[in-house]
Amino acid sequence: MDTDDWIAVDVTGPIGQSPIVLVCEHASAFIPEEFGGLGLTRDAASSHAAWDIGALDVAKFLSSGLGAPLVAGRVSRLVYDCNRPLESAGAIPAKSEIYDVPGNVGLSNEERQRRYDLIHQPFHAAVANILFAQEQAMARPPILVTVHSFTPVYNGVRRDLDIGYLFDSRPALAESALTAEQGAGQFKAALNEPYAPKDGVTHTLVLHGDSQGRENVMIEVRNDLIDTSKNAASVAAHLQEVLTKAVAQITETEGQAG
Ligand SMILES: [Zn+2]
Repeated sequence: MDTDDWIAVDVTGPIGQSPIVLVCEHASAFIPEEFGGLGLTRDAASSHAAWDIGALDVAKFLSSGLGAPLVAGRVSRLVYDCNRPLESAGAIPAKSEIYDVPGNVGLSNEERQRRYDLIHQPFHAAVANILFAQEQAMARPPILVTVHSFTPVYNGVRRDLDIGYLFDSRPALAESALTAEQGAGQFKAALNEPYAPKDGVTHTLVLHGDSQGRENVMIEVRNDLIDTSKNAASVAAHLQEVLTKAVAQITETEGQAG
């Protein structure tokens, strides 16, 4: 089986200009040929189940605006979800919300491990490498920011949240971001919504943030706010201001403490 014609991860943006490292796990709906489209319908293959609509656009605009590196996934989360550990059923879901994923039904442990090795392993090695490079270049702990989007209607229920700031055990950056958000007054924002750690969504945050003593936040934007390049650019400009304020606030607090 030839896997040389696709790669799991894309790294762009400069090192050494901003303390932030951006990560976008669900950036792509691409399914490598060897997986036979996972037996998905055309609708499912392009839906929010396959990727985070608009998230990569926002992450790219943020990367250029902040001068921050960006690590982005290049394979659909339905092949392997890089924000899930191997032991999670959601890492290779047989069903995602309303869509069946026939190509993920009844997989052997060997196939699950193979997908982990092909996708999760290089993706998270790249995140670790970029965080380390950023730490060396900036001579300070890097800050991890992951960028996601959520669907306006989930399991038939309409969500009116605009932006969520998620955290696991280090709330400082998420709380500062919410404070900045409330100051701006433009979007309906909340902490640990529309998902929370109990939903198993903080794998990347814990792996590279909490467990390494690094401040971190996961940003979830409702995808109808970022469904065109122009809209994504506008939300990214807003998030850049929020993040800049939030990072300044936690850095100031660190300085006072130390
Ligand atoms: Zn996501």
